[in-house]
This record gives sequence, C-alpha cells and structure tokens, in this order.
Amino acid sequence: MATQKGPGEATRTPIDLRSDTVTRPTPAMRRAMAEAEVGDDVFREDPTVRRLEELAARMLGKEAALFVPSGTMGNQVAVNVWTRPGQEVILEERSHIFNYEMGTMAAFSGVLPRPLRGPEGALDEGTVRAAIRPQVYYLTQTGLITLENTHNMAGGTIFPQDQAEAIGRLARERGIPIHLDGARIFNASVALAVEAASLARPFGSVMTCLSKGLGAPVGSVVAGPGDFIQDALRVRKRLGGGMRQAGVLAAAGLVALRDNVERLAEDHANARLLAERVAGIEGLRIDPRGVQTNIVIFTVEVDGFTAHDLAGRWKEEGVLALALDDARVRAVTHYDVDRRQVVSACDSLGRIVAGVRRAGREKGTGP
Ligand SMILES: *Cc1c(COP(=O)(O)O)cnc(C)c1O
Repeated sequence: MATQKGPGEATRTPIDLRSDTVTRPTPAMRRAMAEAEVGDDVFREDPTVRRLEELAARMLGKEAALFVPSGTMGNQVAVNVWTRPGQEVILEERSHIFNYEMGTMAAFSGVLPRPLRGPEGALDEGTVRAAIRPQVYYLTQTGLITLENTHNMAGGTIFPQDQAEAIGRLARERGIPIHLDGARIFNASVALAVEAASLARPFGSVMTCLSKGLGAPVGSVVAGPGDFIQDALRVRKRLGGGMRQAGVLAAAGLVALRDNVERLAEDHANARLLAERVAGIEGLRIDPRGVQTNIVIFTVEVDGFTAHDLAGRWKEEGVLALALDDARVRAVTHYDVDRRQVVSACDSLGRIVAGVRRAGREKGTGP
C-alpha cells in the first residue's frame, strides 16, 4: 500500500478535472445499453438511435437530428453540408472548430477558416458584418458562420443570446448559413434557465455532445432542417461515421438527455467553488465572476513555476488537470467529481503553491 500523501491517494482514485469527457456511464446508462433494442442504423433500422435523434431534435428545437460518433464529426458534417470548396468560414479564433479539429474543414471540405477575435469567445454582430465578403465574383465568398456556446477555451463562457440573435438575423439577411458548436449548450441552458431550443433558434444547425457533462460514453448529435439532415446522413457515411447496431450507444445518450441535464447545475456550483478557492491562493489568478458554467481556467503567477509544473505536482497529489500553455491551467467539473473532492483538490493546490513560493523566498534570501 502506498503511503497516504495526498487526497487522491487517500481516496485511491484520482480527482480527474482534465475534462468532462472523462465521465463514465452511470448504472442507469449501463442498464439501458444492455437492454437496448437495436437494428442496422446504416439502413436506418435502429429504433433506439431513431428515438435518440427525435428527442435531441425536439430538445434543440430543430426538425431532425443525426447521431454521430463525435462532436468533431458533427461539426465537420455541418461544415461540409453548408459550404462549397473555396469558401470561407467565419469563426472565433479560439474556437474548437478552428483549433482542435485538425484542419478538417480544409482537408475534407476545402474551405478556409476566417478566424476573428471575440471577447470571452463571443463575436459581435459588427465584427461578423465587417468580415462578410461582398458578393463580387473575384473575392473569396463567405460560406458559413459558426459560433460556440459555451465557449471552451474562453473558460466555459455563455454566448450572449442577443448577440447570437443579431448575428442570426445578419446571416439570414445575407443568405449565409450559420452553425452552432453547442458541445456544451446544455450547460448554457441550465446556467441561464433557458431552453436549449431557444439558444439554438438563431442557428440553421447545432451540434451537441452527449459524452461530456451529460455522461454518455460515446456520441454527439447534429440537428437542423430535414433536408440538411438528409445531406448530413450522406456526409456522415462518407466520413466513416455510419454505425450499425449503434442503439447500444444511443441508449446511453437517451438517458443522458432525459436524466442528466438538470444536474449540470451541481457542476456549475462546484466550478464556482473551485474558482473562489483558487482566487484565494496567493500566486494564482482568476476572476471567479467569470466562471459561468463548469470550466475553470486560472493563471499561475509564481516565478520559475509553470502551469505544466503545477499540473505535474497536482498529479502527484492525485488531482488531474490540463496545462493549456506555460501559464494557464484548465480544470473542468463533472458528475464524477463531488464537492468534497473539489475542496480536497483546492486544499492540495493551496499547499503546493504555498510550498513553491516559500522555497522561492528562501532561495531569494540566501547567500
Ligand atoms: C469537445 C468539443 C467538441 C467535440 O469534441 P469531440 O472530442 O470530437 O467529441 C466540439 N466543440 C467543443 C467546443 C468541444 O468542447
């Protein structure tokens, strides 16, 4: 047996704050998966997949939806359906579609990203309007606008709905399709106490993830008009996303949408607690008021001690988090981490940073 050094080792399971994707299926999900009624979904004969798609479409306020293996595939299916090669896609420069989807829009759809900076990850109507190209034949054409809600790398920030509505009106006016990367739209929905369907209303299509805070082991959905989904079906198959007895996965997704949305509020409360505790640690910086949902990004301000060093030390104490760069650490709350574990993670964080600062001071006053 290991000697008990930190909270993680004391409980013997790491406190995993790297992402809400690490959530494991609940007992209810495992039961539903075991009992799922299935068929060949490439023939559209899997009743559980169809039920999931109907429920997702209803919750997102769209005509139809399609089950896809990942959020990346859902986004890239939408990019492919809405655009033609050579067009430009307006997006925020820290967005997932631009940074974490390996240039798929260029590689698969032949379109160019047009990254724009938005405060807190949120583009405003004026910025988007200025970036839309005039319809002159020798100019690159704007093929699509995408927004992200909540914004992952801006720290789980909620996209201001009036701005989304304004950009949606602009897009309709100009005849440009608009897609929402709503990987965590249900976090925004719960935080605002507004239906996800209302948040998705300005958008032609929306993607959301079942496998993050909602806890399903695999899967996302993309939703939109019926003819969009017909095209999306073809593009999904082309990308290798045609799945056969996928009802075993969709069954978990159904439980996720039915049972796990409201409880996201607990993750938000835990994230706020984490942020407040971090704000109280000398040598770390965060404005806890900026933490709106389940993502906490803080800055390490200790001489000679990087975010990577901190993540390494935290891991020794049984807490896992992601260093985003030399300065910033991201911690994400989810249902596999409870309030007690958040407190214990903060306690060890406080000890680590105080220890490093003390060692730095002693070195500084040395001979
Ligand atoms: C997680 C995530 C996705 C999809 O990621 P996959 O790992 O492909 O499921 C898309 N957008 C955002 C903002 C995300 O956080």
